[in-house]
Order: sequence, then C-alpha cells, then structure tokens
Amino acid sequence: MCESFQIDIGVLQKSPATVVTRQDVWSIGQPTQRCVFCGANMWMHERLAKRGANNTILFAICCMSGKVTLPLLPVPPPLLGTLLDGDDERALHHQKHIRAFNGMFSFTSMAGKI
Ligand SMILES: [Zn+2]
Repeated sequence: MCESFQIDIGVLQKSPATVVTRQDVWSIGQPTQRCVFCGANMWMHERLAKRGANNTILFAICCMSGKVTLPLLPVPPPLLGTLLDGDDERALHHQKHIRAFNGMFSFTSMAGKI
C-alpha cells in the first residue's frame, strides 16, 4: 500500500522574517509508475528523458534501468527465522524491539582486525 507523499514545508523558515505557513502543504500524489526491471514504485517525474524499447518508461534511481541486481537475502538460521517470522510471545517481543537490538549489537561484528 502506498501513501500519498507529502512535503510539509510549514515547518520551514526561509528567514526570520519569512515563515512558511501550514497552508503551503502540497502533494505530488502517489507513485503511479513501476520500474519494468525491478518493480519499484516510482513517480513519473523520476523517469529518464530517454525511453527504452517499445517506448518503455525508464528509471535510473532504483536499479539503473536493470543494470543493478541485488542477490536475494540468504535464509536465516532457524532460530533467527522463527524470531523474524513467528507470532509467539518471544518472536513478537523480538519484532517489536528489533531496532534496539540491532543498535546494541551493531558494533559487535565490525570484522575489524586490531
Ligand atoms: Zn528499477
């Protein structure tokens, strides 16, 4: 599900004398285009000027028009997979606090040689 992308410039101040008000909120709508290579949802204004074969609309900021492909993520070990996908109490606790856990352990495996 895509939500409308809005830029709230009501909080911006160009100078102390010029305050942008909340009435200046504007929307560019939802991304209505889809990259034919990677499936990313895109806004029409993000397209490249040139078109592909069969007049296909091309995008570069997602996958460089199909030039960049990422490998699929490896299957996690069983315990981690259960924590990521499970719905028991322990898994739900893990899913709720995964950002904190990630932050705590982010520097434990830097693979640096001292
Ligand atoms: Zn793409």
